[in-house]
Amino acid sequence: MKNLVILGGGYGGMKILNELLPNHLPENVTITLIDRVPYHCLKTEYYALAAGTISDKEIRVAFPEHSRLDVIYGEVTGIDTKDRKVILKDAEPVSFDDLIIGLGCEDNYHDVPGAEQFTYSIQSIEKSRLTYSVLNNLGPGSVVGIVGAGLSGVELASELSESREDLNIKLFDRGNHILSSFPERLSKYVENWFVRNNVEIINNSNITKVEENKLYNHDQPIDCNVIVWTAGIQASKIVRDMEGEKDRSGRMVISPLHHLPNDEHIFILGDCASLPHAPSAQLAEGQAEQIVEVLKRRWKGEAPPASFPQIKLKGILGSLGKKHGFGMMAERPITGRVARLLKSGILWMYKFHKG
Ligand SMILES: Cc1cc2nc3c(=O)[nH]c(=O)nc-3n(C[C@H](O)[C@H](O)[C@H](O)COP(=O)(O)OP(=O)(O)OC[C@H]3O[C@@H](n4cnc5c(N)ncnc54)[C@H](O)[C@@H]3O)c2cc1C
Repeated sequence: MKNLVILGGGYGGMKILNELLPNHLPENVTITLIDRVPYHCLKTEYYALAAGTISDKEIRVAFPEHSRLDVIYGEVTGIDTKDRKVILKDAEPVSFDDLIIGLGCEDNYHDVPGAEQFTYSIQSIEKSRLTYSVLNNLGPGSVVGIVGAGLSGVELASELSESREDLNIKLFDRGNHILSSFPERLSKYVENWFVRNNVEIINNSNITKVEENKLYNHDQPIDCNVIVWTAGIQASKIVRDMEGEKDRSGRMVISPLHHLPNDEHIFILGDCASLPHAPSAQLAEGQAEQIVEVLKRRWKGEAPPASFPQIKLKGILGSLGKKHGFGMMAERPITGRVARLLKSGILWMYKFHKG
């Protein structure tokens, strides 16, 4: 028996499972899935969990069941690539023949002093729950500082402003306009939405230090009751600690077939992999399909393709509370209720398909 070990049952890991099970797993291969959470989590909805507008249960999806799938609930602490073993906290190591590393990402604090210690996060379910509890226990008129106005910062600020109209929300961003990776027209639409909904945007900010209940913008102190960090991500520490070439965000540089350049049995997936697009759930899923193709061919004794075409992405959608949204579909900006409906529809389809 050969053992395919998948680290992380996120968007990438789940796609691998759903592609291989129930019918495409050869009789002589077993799968071991290892995750610190006992179900698949819909990470794209963590902003709503933190804002208190959805319940925890709504963003859990059960892992599939199969006689040759073993699910281990545990914390991965390292990978021994030479001895072909995954090291777990307080448990025996797990041996692999093929390994897929899809452990996602963590906040990147860009060496800002105090940021890691004194800010809250929405990058994992455990941290999002903690953020939910501090945000929703705040008294009226409390100040919430959100650092970083990319997709997740914007979604959190808008959802929180609808959830808690009594809070004073300040959204800090480095650029002239928020959502710097989107066309300016779209950024302005979102900025106007924030103006109408009493979220203060502080453009051209530079957070130089964070202390308890205080952040420093260009060294000027601003009192906040809670600070949430949404100002960038980096690959999981497990991958950052592995040997091999990585990009500026600690993501592993991989071969055209998604494995380590010097080891064709260790694949790097999703937010852990250095790919030509910004990390996203869609990208992780597209990459998972290609990894499955490589494995299936190899298991049949066939040569894998020399390379794959670029992964096609359908676009990106963000929410502004429960009624409005924005995004890029087929390279065209879309805004308003249609964008929000599309986003809800995609989430529903995803849950319906996987659940
Ligand atoms: C608020 C927010 C909104 C987003 N919106 C969108 C969107 O609209 N569209 C989009 O495409 N993308 C969106 N993203 C990005 C998307 O969520 C990620 O790109 C995607 O989750 C990456 O998938 P993955 O499989 O690489 O990792 P993940 O889905 O993060 O899965 C990683 C898995 O690894 C497990 N894990 C991590 N470390 C360990 C460890 N040491 N031991 C054991 N298990 C571990 C985790 O529990 C998790 O199950 C959003 C992200 C956020 C935070």
